[in-house]
Amino acid sequence: MRKFTENRLIVATHNKGKLEEISALLEPFSVHVTSVGEMGLPEPAETESTFVGNARIKAHAAAQATGLPALADDSGISVDALGGAPGVYTADWAETPQGRDFTLAMTRTWTALEQASAPYPRTAQFRCTLVLAWPDGHDEVFEGIMHGQVVWPMRGDQGHGYDPIFQPDGYTLTCGEMDRWKKNEISHRADAFRKLVKGCFT
Ligand code: IMP
Repeated sequence: MRKFTENRLIVATHNKGKLEEISALLEPFSVHVTSVGEMGLPEPAETESTFVGNARIKAHAAAQATGLPALADDSGISVDALGGAPGVYTADWAETPQGRDFTLAMTRTWTALEQASAPYPRTAQFRCTLVLAWPDGHDEVFEGIMHGQVVWPMRGDQGHGYDPIFQPDGYTLTCGEMDRWKKNEISHRADAFRKLVKGCFT
């Protein structure tokens, strides 16, 4: 496993929330973090059919464009009774001509489960893949997961995306009803970050 020994890291995201989350996590390691969004670099097309494939595209594009190590994440929800869908297409299920609509995406998910007469519990996982890539083409990959079930109706307005229909194992609250700190302790992203820090930053 290659260690991160540089003092600058590019975060391959245009999402301010992700940048803040990553910067906070890396605070103890004295790394200067900049995003591709802040540098005005374009977003590459996510043309792969796996989380790791798309995270690799984003991380390597940023490392090549900047000559610095770059970190990318790709995430989504996989529902077992839907054969793992929406999976890498999680954000696409929310697309409308007016922008992303996650109430629509959650309704689509529940409707698909109803049409499939899926048995209960309607198990699902949130997944997060992190790729740390260097300009010489080397990369390290970390995968995080949060197990749970899809529930209906939507509950809670604390989170984002599909949080209101996802109830993690061992909890009676949905991620939409949990406070941010609790969710950030148990989430797929936290799991992947812990592995990244253990592998490359310590
Ligand atoms: P990405 O930015 O291409 O990785 O898109 C990931 C998609 O998965 C987004 O549309 C999010 O709404 C959804 N997603 C990822 N993580 C979470 C989460 O923690 N809660 C709710 N939705 C999530």
